[in-house]
Amino acid sequence: MSPGGPGDSVGIIVERCPNIEVAPIEWPNHGVLFWIMSRKRVGHRFNYTFLETACYTGICLYWGKIMARIHILGAGTPTPTPTRYGSSFVLEIGGEKIMIDCGPATTHKLVKAGLWPTEIDYLFFTHHHFDHDVDYPCFLLTRWDQSIGKENLLQVFGPTLTEQLTHRIMDEHDGAFAHDWIARVNHPASQQVYVNRGGSPPRLPPEVSAKDIKSGKIFSGKNWEISGADAVHVQPYLDSLAYRIDTDEGSVVFTGDTEPCESVRELAQGADVMFAMCWDEEESMLRGGEQHGVMGTISAARLAQDAGVKKLVLSHVGKNLDTHGVMEKGIGQAKANFEGELVYSEELMSLEI
Ligand SMILES: [Zn+2]
Repeated sequence: MSPGGPGDSVGIIVERCPNIEVAPIEWPNHGVLFWIMSRKRVGHRFNYTFLETACYTGICLYWGKIMARIHILGAGTPTPTPTRYGSSFVLEIGGEKIMIDCGPATTHKLVKAGLWPTEIDYLFFTHHHFDHDVDYPCFLLTRWDQSIGKENLLQVFGPTLTEQLTHRIMDEHDGAFAHDWIARVNHPASQQVYVNRGGSPPRLPPEVSAKDIKSGKIFSGKNWEISGADAVHVQPYLDSLAYRIDTDEGSVVFTGDTEPCESVRELAQGADVMFAMCWDEEESMLRGGEQHGVMGTISAARLAQDAGVKKLVLSHVGKNLDTHGVMEKGIGQAKANFEGELVYSEELMSLEI
């Protein structure tokens, strides 16, 4: 969608498409309001699902399909660098936004990417290493603080410890950050900020649905469904999951942190896009004995090739691999072992499925 701005000439171009209905309605002093609905044929009838409204005062282009876009927020490891730190992604599918992992500074990077915490209704953790979850308290508090009481319930899923971690952050009695929201709920100054933002009193305590999950079918959204497979990382200390999201527009896999294994290969079979952890250039990893529980430039490429993946995105990139010279060598190794399209990730990059 390419919205215009104030002062642009008003015109509407709507691309017709079999699975989307766009209904433009004149809205005086604002421009045109669009109701955007997905349309699915059921026998001789259509079922409509409301996706979102959009209002633009300028030229509006709608590309005519349910968009599936992936934002890379965190493309690094536990080692901070000026351009990479930790792991996090957001998928936009139709009107829904799904976060995968919540590593360092995710909430801030989310806003830098043009997204907003209250828009995220789903969060899936691959595992509970800090480079994948340390911004969770920040995200929970910000999403709640910015809410006006009309948002959807945040649904969080992940392997063992997801429920416990959520409880330990937000619970009124045991939560490490309960003092913050208790003060904001009760102090008149914070109540006023809430009302000024559009909230209607009383300001309610935060509510989150958190569930520990295992591999298999996990959840279905409006236009997507997600399943998980066991990943091999640092068991028995932490459980790890890889995820696959299937939509009408295609499929995307997040390996999370794993070494090459049959369960992740099976999950990724025929996927359109796979975001694979890629710790380092493979020879450096072997020299340093760092090949266990992780993947590098060759092992990630071979896993994608064996699974018949169409596009491989190298993410979770370590500091050494991100150094010129090593990077070019590593990308060469990946290209030599994978026939599909190869993408070397950068934070705040986004791509369509
Ligand atoms: Zn990691």
